[in-house]
Amino acid sequence: MSTIPFSTQYKRIATEEAFAPADLIDRYRKLYESHELNDPGFDSLWGFYSSSKAARPTFIREKLADLDAGRIADMDATGVDHQIIALTSPGVQVFDRATALSLARECNDVLEAAVRRHPTRFTGMIAIAPQAPEQAAAELQRCKAVGFRGIIINSHTMGEYLSDTKFWPIFEAAEALDLPIYLHPNTPPKSMIGPMVDAGLDGAIFGFGVETGFHLLRIIVAGVFDRFPRLQIIVGHMGEALPYWLYRLEYMHAAGVRAARYESMKPLQKKIGDYLRENVYITNSGVAWEPAIKFAQQIVGVDRVMYAMDYPYQYTPQEVIDLDNMQMDLADKRAFYQTVAERVFKL
Ligand code: MN
Repeated sequence: MSTIPFSTQYKRIATEEAFAPADLIDRYRKLYESHELNDPGFDSLWGFYSSSKAARPTFIREKLADLDAGRIADMDATGVDHQIIALTSPGVQVFDRATALSLARECNDVLEAAVRRHPTRFTGMIAIAPQAPEQAAAELQRCKAVGFRGIIINSHTMGEYLSDTKFWPIFEAAEALDLPIYLHPNTPPKSMIGPMVDAGLDGAIFGFGVETGFHLLRIIVAGVFDRFPRLQIIVGHMGEALPYWLYRLEYMHAAGVRAARYESMKPLQKKIGDYLRENVYITNSGVAWEPAIKFAQQIVGVDRVMYAMDYPYQYTPQEVIDLDNMQMDLADKRAFYQTVAERVFKL
């Protein structure tokens, strides 16, 4: 039984919740030990999480693999009614094409079975192998047919970004199938991570956010939403700071286009903020902070900001109490916790 006095005026739907089969974590550990990937970000992240004996990584390893009683008990203890679950970062995006394709399928099957066991508590997002864009589109079709309601992509795939047109079959399929893409962080690629690791700033503390915000910005300025106007992308961590940057992004993008400074920087049909308001949803994963949530609501609209806990990485019951206590109209709080997610994931 819960000991926390949760509000019961709305359902809590947590939208960026992670899982990983124990077998995948084992593969991450072996990949780290082999140093074959030559990716300092992966080595930093999974060198730590796959084998550290400290309390937090041990808890996280155990909970990532639990799609039954342990996870549901943790949800009950924090008043979370429903989780939108996705394969943890970096998903299958660090493996060769063939391995990534078969692993994505296996992980999707594991998640589908869990959703079947607990249909009122879990909804799944589809893991894909961006390394194989055409086959990824086929996996989307297969999984949508069995009840998945979104797509998880853990940011860059071995240093490559979805702004590259070779990945656009994925956007085309997502738009056609009406499946939102959750663009979740990954550690920055080798080309970007440089001086972050030695300062301890490569992970969720900072590197995740700037890399993923940068990725979404690349997608926007590449004209992806002009080409796929109904495509919807969800980003966590308060929009990876983009709302806070928005004024200057728009000013400098317009200036760059006018001056024809970059060959790649073409005029867009709309302003960057228009895409945030029409094609992007923001969750507060990892940021249980009233001023940031209200600022995002002010910039992109109450109907574009959703709740996420980032379980099991940031499992802190007090955060739910803090969010319940936000000074916010009940209707807006219900949108944040419940109704926007119900609409986005068709619950
Ligand atoms: Mn997360």
